[in-house]
Amino acid sequence: MNGLNDCQGRLFLESVALGEVASRFGTPCYVYSRKALTDTYAAFDAAFSGIDHLVCYAVKANSNLAVLNLFARLGSGFDIVSGGELQRVLAAGGDPAKTVFSGVGKSSPEILAALEAGVLCFNVESASELSRIDRVAGEIGRLAPVSLRVNPDVDARTHPYIATGLKDSKFGIPFEEARSLYRRAATLPHLRVVGIDCHIGSQLTETAPFLAALERVLTLTDELAADGIVLEHMDLGGGLGIRYREEVPPDIAEYAGAIRNALAGRPQRLILEPGRFLVGNAGLLLTRVEYLKHGSQRNFAIVDAAMNDLARPALYDAYHAIVPVLRRDGRPRRYEVVGPVCESGDFLGHERDLTVEEGDLLAVLSAGAYGMAMSSNYNTRPRAAEVMVDGGALHLIRERETVVELFSLEKPLP
Ligand SMILES: *Cc1c(COP(=O)(O)O)cnc(C)c1O
Repeated sequence: MNGLNDCQGRLFLESVALGEVASRFGTPCYVYSRKALTDTYAAFDAAFSGIDHLVCYAVKANSNLAVLNLFARLGSGFDIVSGGELQRVLAAGGDPAKTVFSGVGKSSPEILAALEAGVLCFNVESASELSRIDRVAGEIGRLAPVSLRVNPDVDARTHPYIATGLKDSKFGIPFEEARSLYRRAATLPHLRVVGIDCHIGSQLTETAPFLAALERVLTLTDELAADGIVLEHMDLGGGLGIRYREEVPPDIAEYAGAIRNALAGRPQRLILEPGRFLVGNAGLLLTRVEYLKHGSQRNFAIVDAAMNDLARPALYDAYHAIVPVLRRDGRPRRYEVVGPVCESGDFLGHERDLTVEEGDLLAVLSAGAYGMAMSSNYNTRPRAAEVMVDGGALHLIRERETVVELFSLEKPLP
């Protein structure tokens, strides 16, 4: 987790005490570091300097407008997977001409909106989608830029829920069918074939699967050139992992270096769609201990954040480090850190050794990616506030929801 520091037993993000964040904005609260976001983006972008490339931040990892706006200011493009994300990018000042539209289920209104906004390309995931984009583009007299998302049948060696590049996955176009679909795309009147795309999964901790996918993409690119289909870009997707616990993901220089070598001499522009890597270690979830329950078998620290705020532990059995905001002396006890939601799957961490008292604050680290973005209102819990730290300054970037807002769209029967 970046930007975190301990000052005389109190935890700070950049120069802001987390205790101060809690007293000003309450808990649970997501807290992000502007510096961590900026530095990580800069490092990622710099690793590809010297080759024609575009970073398209994967919006779904963290779609807060302040985060999107920050990346837009840094020159980033965006990878979107819905019409809603397109609206967010536009509202945040993102450039549609640097935006790629991915996802297996694009609806006609979403395709229309993306054409009207002028996105860089559609990453097409099926033959039917290709026909639909051609038809929608024809209806408004536009030429739709398309890239096929091919499924390279590569094992990303990650959690099965976030592996997307295997043959039996719902994502992408089977590798064996891609060449003929490209030929068909080239004949459709309202399409312009501009690229090739793949995304094999998330939280990858090795370089080899990326290179295996790239190799297949390069082979296909050459075959297409032989068919007279010349591509402008190659999109390698996202997926670079981060360190939550003991993982040792490739460092950015190693990842970028390997891709550079494989691409040597290729004229195509390189597009990358990092999500988690750019935001994961730039944010934490701040929560307060409501109750301590000491039992004969287990001790529970019941906190005010839950699986509705941070779904990753319940969903993927994911690990997030949990640290006290105030360091106390005394022997730690082993706790199950759990939320108030009525599900046994509602936990944030198992078997954590903590010296805490009721009322203390805990920081759930590395929660900047797929944290707030996957949150829900289960158990009628208003979603957490989001705050961005900038040096010594604190900015509220999303207000805490109110309960009345949660049911304002509902109506009793007449
Ligand atoms: C989710 C996703 C990404 C980002 O994945 P990360 O693991 O967060 O980098 C990129 N591209 C596509 C198509 C995705 O679905």
